Amino acid sequence: MEHEEILHRCFRCGYCKLPSNYTDLACPSYLAFRFETYSPGGRMWLLRALLDGKIESTPRLAEIMFSCATCGNCVEHCAMPDFKDRLLLAFTAGKEALLDSGRVPAGVRDYLTRMQNHGNAYGKSARKRADWTNEANIEPFDGQEYLFYAGDVGSYDTRGRQIAVSVAEVLKKAGISFGILANGESDDGNDVRAMGERPLFEDLARKNIAAFDKAGVKKIVTLSPHAFNTFKNSYPAFGGTYQVFHYTQLLAFAMGAFTFRNDLPPIAVTFHDPCYLGRHNKDYESSRMVLRAIPGVTLIEMDRSRKNALCCGGGGGNLFTDVLGGAEESAARARAVEAAEAGAQVLAVACPLCAIMLEDAVKTAGLEERLQVREVSEIISERLLP
Ligand code: SF4
Ligand code: SF4
Repeated sequence: MEHEEILHRCFRCGYCKLPSNYTDLACPSYLAFRFETYSPGGRMWLLRALLDGKIESTPRLAEIMFSCATCGNCVEHCAMPDFKDRLLLAFTAGKEALLDSGRVPAGVRDYLTRMQNHGNAYGKSARKRADWTNEANIEPFDGQEYLFYAGDVGSYDTRGRQIAVSVAEVLKKAGISFGILANGESDDGNDVRAMGERPLFEDLARKNIAAFDKAGVKKIVTLSPHAFNTFKNSYPAFGGTYQVFHYTQLLAFAMGAFTFRNDLPPIAVTFHDPCYLGRHNKDYESSRMVLRAIPGVTLIEMDRSRKNALCCGGGGGNLFTDVLGGAEESAARARAVEAAEAGAQVLAVACPLCAIMLEDAVKTAGLEERLQVREVSEIISERLLP
């Protein structure tokens, strides 16, 4: 197994799971299950024991390994500089070994089968990929400056489609020139890669790269931080080299294009950093620049923000596989409570996966009267002059 030589180096100090104090549970799977085996250090030792033949590959072990949301909080806080950057790589290699042995949770198996057969996480026809544009006038890509990549959630999920429409309309109002490839695109593969399904990831990457290159794409703006991450950091190894932006990175420098109303009541907004824009790519500012530029918005911070932000639990495929589950102590619910306790009326998100996870959490935590989840472009639109 790749990176196996680091596994025994973890001395279970616990900085990764409790970075600042005894109540700061930073790992979504440890937060949900509260067993050491679900913590980053626990994963390291389980993998070591598996490789040494001291434990067997069981369904329970697979559940533990695939419950990692790939949030990177452990990488940020691990006390060992010699191997901290390889923690997630080791966990991915562990999942790859479990996949090779055929030992995967049913939710993971079904997700990967849908992806294999249909090229998307929903198991829907590629022909339906452009249906979200029925609700907006979006042009096909034909040499515009940017390809707008809506991805699976933006194309197939009901809430994701609303967000894709909202972002596309705000990009248009900002004067940004873009088009879409519609059924010419496949899933970006970010979460497939994080699950350790390397051949399937490579297949998806090569298909997208062939489609992008055939269309003459040079610049891409993504709806999801997950797609942004994989296009930017993983596709160059397969010959796909583009200038890649998350939509908030374009809007951060286009806010002067908007004329806002000044008759609306002020709102207190807190921003939930998406892991694949924040920790994985170190962009903590673009969304905050956008929010600060909206008249009437007061930006407040939760106790855990930027590199310390608690993940919503939807990464690593968990939005689809539900291995992590929506228990009472789920990361998403803890995050919704944190936002409400910070005094926010609006929990702003810049990722369609975060939106789905946190909207559900606000409902199950009974916070609907106090807190609304809104995607960044929706907050812009609500405050624009007609
Ligand atoms: S901080 Fe690093 S060394 Fe300490 S328990 Fe976590 S993974 Fe192991
Ligand atoms: S990446 Fe996140 S979910 Fe996975 S072990 Fe590290 S802290 Fe836990």
